[in-house]
Amino acid sequence: MMAAKLLLVLVICRLIVTFGLTLNSSEVFGIGINDHRFGLNPTELESASHDFGGQNRAEPLAVFHPTSADDISRLIKSAYESAHGFTVSARGHGHSINGQAHTKNGVVIQMSDSKKLVEPRVDESLRFVDVWGGELWIDVLNYTLRYGLAPKSWTDYLYLSVGGTLSNAGISGQAFNHGPQISNVYELDVITGKGELRTCSEQQDSELFHAVLGGLGQFGIISRARIALESAPQRVRWIRVLYSNFSSFTHDQEYLISLHSQPAAQKFDYVEGFVIVDEGLINNWRSSFFSPSNPVKISSVVGANGGVLYCLEITKNYHQLNAHAIDQEVEELLKKLNYIPATEFTTDLPYVDFLDRVHKAELKLRSKGLWEVPHPWLNLFVPKSRIDDFDKGVFRGILGNKTSGPILIYPMNKNKWDERSSVVTPNEEVFYLVALLRSALDNGEETQTLEYLSDQNRQILRFCDDAGIKIKQYLPHYNTQKQWMDHFGDKWPMIYQRKMEFDPKHILATGQRIFQPNF
Ligand code: FAD
Repeated sequence: MMAAKLLLVLVICRLIVTFGLTLNSSEVFGIGINDHRFGLNPTELESASHDFGGQNRAEPLAVFHPTSADDISRLIKSAYESAHGFTVSARGHGHSINGQAHTKNGVVIQMSDSKKLVEPRVDESLRFVDVWGGELWIDVLNYTLRYGLAPKSWTDYLYLSVGGTLSNAGISGQAFNHGPQISNVYELDVITGKGELRTCSEQQDSELFHAVLGGLGQFGIISRARIALESAPQRVRWIRVLYSNFSSFTHDQEYLISLHSQPAAQKFDYVEGFVIVDEGLINNWRSSFFSPSNPVKISSVVGANGGVLYCLEITKNYHQLNAHAIDQEVEELLKKLNYIPATEFTTDLPYVDFLDRVHKAELKLRSKGLWEVPHPWLNLFVPKSRIDDFDKGVFRGILGNKTSGPILIYPMNKNKWDERSSVVTPNEEVFYLVALLRSALDNGEETQTLEYLSDQNRQILRFCDDAGIKIKQYLPHYNTQKQWMDHFGDKWPMIYQRKMEFDPKHILATGQRIFQPNF
């Protein structure tokens, strides 16, 4: 505790020199800072100590609210050049699961703030938007729609920051077609671990550009991103169909993503899916999804497969002008699929409502006090060649008949991912995302506790290891450098080299636990 206090005093002294701050009455250990950019009050420190996962707590020394990229540059320079350095972590919207945006005894830079730092700028003819790294995707969407344009690749949930998702990959049902969000960026402004503010792209400073994309915040802080846009659709036809046979389900998903190079009319725009192992979910699987067609009795299709059902979820975007063609296009595509007859549910809604669908669920959960609970989420990339084994061992094995949250499963095409980025994916042309998005509850049911669900996650990872299923964690979480080396595999030497070049003192994003600070 004394050491932390001493460090805080040293850090504050350093910041006073760097930013020319004025001292006021003794606020913290005799030193106060009269500058709106620094947050030192307990409420702010507490809020930067938590994240969506709700399982880790790490209190920073201070929270920094930058007013420009130069502010960030000066802060990091001061950490880099000081004999008594300090760590710095960008925090987007704090939606990590395992403390990835935390930094104990360092400074958290709050990138997503209500104050607009930099207005987005749309270039209509070149079809891109420049946005601040802390901008939330929902705001990017609302802004670009004013021009009839929208980003091409999404996450399922839009209250995430641009810098936060680009530091991972950013995936959803469009990834098979457009690639992850990191494949849809033209240019970045990045502040490195030495405090240099650099503009990078495929053509300029390309090593830094590729390092930062999927780089888990290790190589620099994204202050601006130039994001590719397309003409925004107006409406979405949203369809769900059910399977009891896993092979038919994955066969159809893989067929649909193989159409990525076909003309727009001959493919869906979004391909996802989810697993229903839960008795509760069987009765509720259409919640937040209204279909005017007559619902089938789900109990009549459950049975043969130990009660497990698989739901394919697909959408087709369209403009009002082409509304006449949509029925025919959807029908042609559905004809090729082998789902259980009469399990087709369709709805039609504005494009924004579709993209923002998870927020509706969030509001419902918040109203019941079920949003701010621990989330022991596990996200895995599973190679296509082993997805059947994963089904048998996990969906129809380890999980039992209670899941405590949605389980997403959808395939992606590896050729839409740029190998030069820092992200790692399985070594096969097609791999699946399996996302176990579970909430822990303290309601007396043993199978819903944090301990139970965390233990199940460990069992799943052990099962994959024992069965030789070469998964890669998405939004990875490891505690030792050895585990990280295994995670990065062949990419580790490149990751290490990039770290030495762009953040040699290991100042940035220590919450990822890849590198120990080096000062
Ligand atoms: P934070 O949690 O604040 O930060 C994450 C990491 O990025 C930290 O290491 C941090 O230091 C670093 N970082 C943050 N900002 C910057 C920056 N500007 N520059 C450099 N590094 C930075 N992911 C998907 O891909 N698809 C989904 O559909 C999806 N859905 C989700 C739904 C919910 C409800 C939640 C909670 C998460 C979801 N995620 C999804 C995961 C999400 O993309 C990641 O957790 C992401 O990191 C969250 O963004 P954030 O802004 O909250 O980042």
